[in-house]
Amino acid sequence: PIHDAVLGEAAARGETPALIDGNGGPGALTLTYAQVDAFHRRVAAGLAEAGVRKGDVLALHSPNTVLFPVAFYAATRAGASVTTIHPLATAEEFGKQLRDSAARWIVTVSALADTARRAAELAGGVAEIFVCDTDGEHRSLQSFLASAAPEPDVAIDPDEDIAALPYSSGTTGVPKGVMLTHRSIGTNLNQLEPLIPMGPGDRILAVLPFFHIYGLTALMNAPLRKGATVVVQTRFELDAFLGAIQEHRITGLYVAPPIVLALAKHPAVDAYDLSSLKYILSAAAPLDASLAEACRARLGLPVRQAYGMTELSPGTHVVPLAVADPPPGAVGKLLPSTELRILSLDDPSKDAAPGEEGEVAIRGPQVMKGYFGRQEATDAMIDADGWLHTGDIGRVDGDGWLYVVDRVKELIKYKGFQVAPAELEALLLTHTAVADAAVIGVSDDDGNEVPKAFVVRQPGEPELTEDDVITFVAGQVAPYKKIRRVEFIDAVPKAASGKILRRELRERP
Ligand code: ATP
Ligand code: MG
Repeated sequence: PIHDAVLGEAAARGETPALIDGNGGPGALTLTYAQVDAFHRRVAAGLAEAGVRKGDVLALHSPNTVLFPVAFYAATRAGASVTTIHPLATAEEFGKQLRDSAARWIVTVSALADTARRAAELAGGVAEIFVCDTDGEHRSLQSFLASAAPEPDVAIDPDEDIAALPYSSGTTGVPKGVMLTHRSIGTNLNQLEPLIPMGPGDRILAVLPFFHIYGLTALMNAPLRKGATVVVQTRFELDAFLGAIQEHRITGLYVAPPIVLALAKHPAVDAYDLSSLKYILSAAAPLDASLAEACRARLGLPVRQAYGMTELSPGTHVVPLAVADPPPGAVGKLLPSTELRILSLDDPSKDAAPGEEGEVAIRGPQVMKGYFGRQEATDAMIDADGWLHTGDIGRVDGDGWLYVVDRVKELIKYKGFQVAPAELEALLLTHTAVADAAVIGVSDDDGNEVPKAFVVRQPGEPELTEDDVITFVAGQVAPYKKIRRVEFIDAVPKAASGKILRRELRERP
């Protein structure tokens, strides 16, 4: 069971700080390992007494707080599967996920309780709504700490029972509930652990959301299992983020490309002492080699990548910290006990030629059990031989390094050529007057799909024109990849996990 896998040594770690509220302000709340151990067991008892049973789905609706892990492991210890909810979800979105996941219970925070109540109504009701903190209206998890109920002793079958039911980001379609067993999540922790060593003394900044599988793994399960200290921030704000690194002497950063971009380019970075940092790991979206290099050069730290997806618990590749000089752009080497194929883009029943680009397919213990309630979508993703087709395009070099190009669905097809938006975005970001950029395919007057760039200008630099952008890119790429439309915008829309929301760009008037 994941709660034992992660918290098995928590009691023995005693007074070591496990979680620190890193939002600043006086009297920051700290939970020691002994407290996390005791609290999650008491809360599990309270949940069981309230009626939570093995196999129930519990919706955890909270921003990052020090109590999030307590609620999570309490729920799994009570036998529930936890479906994590985006804290900014509307009542409609939340209601959909409640209905789709058949959740019977909600744990929320007082500040979001109104949304949770409306979501529950829309979904036709839940058994009970609890709050992590106190709000006078709902039972709080804190009240369970005083409960005298016996700790639940639920028999869990790690291979069958679902620990987490996170929803995929919804970047390419409707978000789908991903069934991850205790075994798949636990195995993935074992696979990742030797490559990115973490231990007591490490201080990890948790600003990416816990509700997304990347945060859940890298910022919660992995550090708490190894006795590191997790400094929790509720939202990303660059100054607060840099301030927390300085104040808490953060040692490792697990981030997505937008934060790497800020670290590489934002003037505010120089005002902080970031000397405690030992490495930066980026995942969840394409990170260009030159951006990684700019960040490495500025901060003097290794910037490494990992690759995965919700459906893979989530990791399959990571660039080991111990490798001093990994090739630029690599997302990693294949984790142990995992198989990889690169499928031909012309004929997916065949492998691509060695070194060629194709669709990444994965087989291994971290592959999800399936999408909840969506057999057809599951069958479309995992073939009869157990290979999960990722929808991502990649290639593997002679030394086994994987490079991810982009998603199959995002490729712009220009007159029979294929253009990867990620490549053009990376190029645009190398321009000093570009603060951020995104590329999508749009149709031109002749009905061709052509690359259009959305560009955020860098303040304090000469003001870019459409021609500047087009000429800059045209000078560095084959003619079919040329940018043919440019629009200047204030900010590139991105998901909480750091991905560019190209759909929103497509829907702009
Ligand atoms: P949905 O499946 O609902 O459309 P999503 O695929 O964005 O949403 P996630 O599971 O959060 O949901 O993201 C997984 C995807 O993130 C991968 O399929 C891949 O496209 C991208 N990704 C993850 N890591 C990397 C990386 N290092 N480089 C490039 N892309 C990455
Ligand atoms: Mg996906």
